Amino acid sequence: MEFINLHTHSYTKDDAILEVVNQYPWEFDEAIPNYSIGIHPWYIDENRLKSDLNIIEEKLRLNECLALGECGLDKRIEIPFQKQTEVFQQQIELVQNTSKPIILHCVASFQEVISIKKEMNIKNPMIIHGFSKNKQVAKSLLDNGFYLSFGKYLLRNPELSEVFEYVTNDRFFLETDTIEDTIIDVYQKASNIKNIKLEDLKEVVKVNFNQVFKYE
Ligand SMILES: [Zn+2]
Repeated sequence: MEFINLHTHSYTKDDAILEVVNQYPWEFDEAIPNYSIGIHPWYIDENRLKSDLNIIEEKLRLNECLALGECGLDKRIEIPFQKQTEVFQQQIELVQNTSKPIILHCVASFQEVISIKKEMNIKNPMIIHGFSKNKQVAKSLLDNGFYLSFGKYLLRNPELSEVFEYVTNDRFFLETDTIEDTIIDVYQKASNIKNIKLEDLKEVVKVNFNQVFKYE
């Protein structure tokens, strides 16, 4: 059975992996079979914003476009937070016509993302990618219906093991994002921490994926 990589920036062409490859509207690659598409807050550019949003809207109608994202909020960058919020909300409006999930980049903005979910009454599943925070932040996100995706920090940061253990099996995903390690490395680490067999872990992630992505 296959591995599922919730978020990656490189397409490996490996048949044993179902990968949600991150795509940007301004450098779209037609050759990628399964992808998410969104405007990352780091790369907001007023000059092409309208065209970026149009491309996202168009791709979201296609079956091979599995999700919106990565998009979200980041308090550690120069781009004004107000602008980021605006662009984030414009993208959400586009995905709300569909049942597709949202893959989120969220840095020091968890409360804001929770508020936006409530204010905009977002029913699409929302997944925080690259989760690296403590149990308290995890709990607040889980209580508000979010999913958490783990990768880089699960491999690099021993304190995160306890948080990952705490997340129930129905609410997490695994990913590589931009790291060199493979998704199999991430699964192996995750299976050690949760103390479940690799085959069982694959099943757990697959069930979550089918649930959230309605992909079968
Ligand atoms: Zn990423």
